[in-house]
Amino acid sequence: MPSLTAPPQTGRSQLAEIVEHTWGYDSFLPLQREAMECCLASRDSVVILPTGGGKSLCFQAPALCMEGMALVVSPLISLMKDQVDALRACGVAAAYINSTLSTSERRQVAEQIRRGELKLLYAAPERLLADRTLDFLKNANVSLVAVDEAHCISAWGHDFRPEYRALRVLKQAFPSVGIHAYTATASEQVRQDIAEQLGLESPEMLVGSFDRPNLVYRLRPGSGKFAQMCEIIQRHQNASGIVYCISRKEVDRTAASLCALGHRAAPYHAGMSDQERHDNQDAFIEERVDVIVATVAFGMGIDKSNVRYVIHAGMPKSLEHYQQESGRAGRDGLEAECWLFHSGNDAMTWKRMLDNSDPQARDGALRALDAMEGFCQGVECRHRAIVRYFGQELESDNCGACDVCLDELDQVADPVILAQKILSCVARLSERFGADYTAKVLAGSQEQRIVQQGHNQLSTYGLLKEHAVATIRQWIEQLASQGFVAKTGEFNVLQLTPAGRALLKGQGSPQLLKPAEPQQRAPKAADSWDGVDRDLFEVLRELRGKLAAELQVPAYIVFGDTALRDMARRRPSTTDAFRQVNGVGDKKLEDFGEAFVEAIVNYCRANEVPMDINTSAARGLAPAKPQAAGDVSMSALPAFEFFRRGASVEEVMANMNRARSTVHGYLGEYLRHELVLDPTPWVDAATVRRIETAIEEVGPQQRLAPIFEHLGGEVSYDDIRIVAACLRNRS
Ligand code: ADP
Ligand code: ZN
Repeated sequence: MPSLTAPPQTGRSQLAEIVEHTWGYDSFLPLQREAMECCLASRDSVVILPTGGGKSLCFQAPALCMEGMALVVSPLISLMKDQVDALRACGVAAAYINSTLSTSERRQVAEQIRRGELKLLYAAPERLLADRTLDFLKNANVSLVAVDEAHCISAWGHDFRPEYRALRVLKQAFPSVGIHAYTATASEQVRQDIAEQLGLESPEMLVGSFDRPNLVYRLRPGSGKFAQMCEIIQRHQNASGIVYCISRKEVDRTAASLCALGHRAAPYHAGMSDQERHDNQDAFIEERVDVIVATVAFGMGIDKSNVRYVIHAGMPKSLEHYQQESGRAGRDGLEAECWLFHSGNDAMTWKRMLDNSDPQARDGALRALDAMEGFCQGVECRHRAIVRYFGQELESDNCGACDVCLDELDQVADPVILAQKILSCVARLSERFGADYTAKVLAGSQEQRIVQQGHNQLSTYGLLKEHAVATIRQWIEQLASQGFVAKTGEFNVLQLTPAGRALLKGQGSPQLLKPAEPQQRAPKAADSWDGVDRDLFEVLRELRGKLAAELQVPAYIVFGDTALRDMARRRPSTTDAFRQVNGVGDKKLEDFGEAFVEAIVNYCRANEVPMDINTSAARGLAPAKPQAAGDVSMSALPAFEFFRRGASVEEVMANMNRARSTVHGYLGEYLRHELVLDPTPWVDAATVRRIETAIEEVGPQQRLAPIFEHLGGEVSYDDIRIVAACLRNRS
């Protein structure tokens, strides 16, 4: 074990080695390495990384490099248990102390600490500060202190916990030990407050990007949302998802409707008994339930990594909430969908709920609500709008992962004329009516009160009768968010603003959207199914569920979706090959290797699917282990004949009746086995040149992803893999 003053070089390579052996990761996520180095150097730090940014590893890996035991303060009992379970699954000696432990369990942990057996100890703040715990820990050779969910210490944060305030004593108790705070909350104010409250000494501030590029954001008007929700859920059969509703009633109704349609759904809200809530949450975590339908009450303390979609059936009450709730999708870094269905009524519902709150809190909440409405009506890239709200900018012009950038929303042909029609109706109604009423007049509704008031006689009555009321309603909201009309007074009466009056005279350029059908264009992030045999993935998912149930841990503690997909892609036939899978460290290899390899071999034999696909190539362009001539799978051999004659992947798919991923597997084997030098039968010459140039520019790589990125995501992994294989054969 190196001492704290070990030269950084030693620390660094040792870190990489520990991460590889213990967790099976071959690289660091952004800022992880910097954060880890702060730990090794005992330099206080505040680390801000978004959900899924890999904060835990920032202190867990250094804890293993350093002598003694790391102390981790964590506010959530359920998370604490998960993290400790996950560490133990990787073979790390870890334990926790909180109020759920019995006296004898607590004594047992104390004994482990005394014997110096633990590398990490998780503690709830109240436990840490109770009795003589701190005095006891002073003699426990504490290597570093990590404060998780550190925003809880700040009254500015959204989740202030008074007991966190007392954590100031940590600095006094462990004066020579580095204290490191971690949170996903972005605000500068909270960040400073954390450093101050913990008494950190000129801490290193590491702030990551708040963008979550693997999330695809889509916003839609609320009308007809149930059918669209069903379509999304259907598309993600057997995968986990969350549906957020504003009210408890809507939660119950939606959950019941989904169950009636045969989905495995369950409700969650504060009106249910603790027991029911607990049961449903467990069922979701253990994957006996696919969809949890919930109010905002759900989510704290859930770090299920493989949530594939989050649907908001109504508008959340702030962008902070939206970022947090939608952020529960795709923590594993794989692509995930975030849908937000919104309507004008949502804000009203929230406002009603705020009626009884104290005036100061109410003001802040109304401002947050306004910003949220602006986001819903905006026509700017969703990724950009979100990070901008948190004070950051996005580098690329087109995120490739939101409805705006994917071109799913069209501008109307003539927004000025349309806006003028709407605004003149507002004027004709003497600026005395709300958006709903105005929309109905424009649509030519026969509603009694419209007729009674004689508004069916107005020149603007029925002016937009070819459009649905809901669509007109949207346009009014869009005009409001762009400042052409204002909603005023208790009843949100529409009034023209100066900009609105100018527009009536032809000055100004409003933007009005017509919601179009989603074009099923694959977002940039969707490459992670590349080469994955989906049926095998399902088989492995079931095995994972079975093992997790036996061990009584959540499924993702056995393996995350990333690891499972990589298994179904590489299809390793030996435990040696299994070790290459992303997310397989030494301990998991030992515990689960045989079971998974057996399942893979059985599946592949039964379905004639090739195994040991490009094992080294998939990891990168490092020289492949030379394969013995006989080392090809039998099922691939017939394809070799086709490839020799220059057949394309599509032709082989048709002739052999195999899936694309399978045929690409065959082709990989063929290229390697026959030492093929020329990729042009499968990739056109121009693309080959682009890929070769990219490989040259990026340099020798362990992985294909950097090359894919370098090519701006415009060239498929399949093509890159083919060209890389030929290049390797040439060298
Ligand atoms: P956070 O606490 O920041 O939300 P987690 O610590 O839960 O994030 O990590 C998010 C996911 O990323 C987890 O599934 C974790 O296993 C994975 N992960 C963390 N570090 C790496 C890495 N270096 N390479 C690959 N995956 C990683
Ligand atoms: Zn975008």
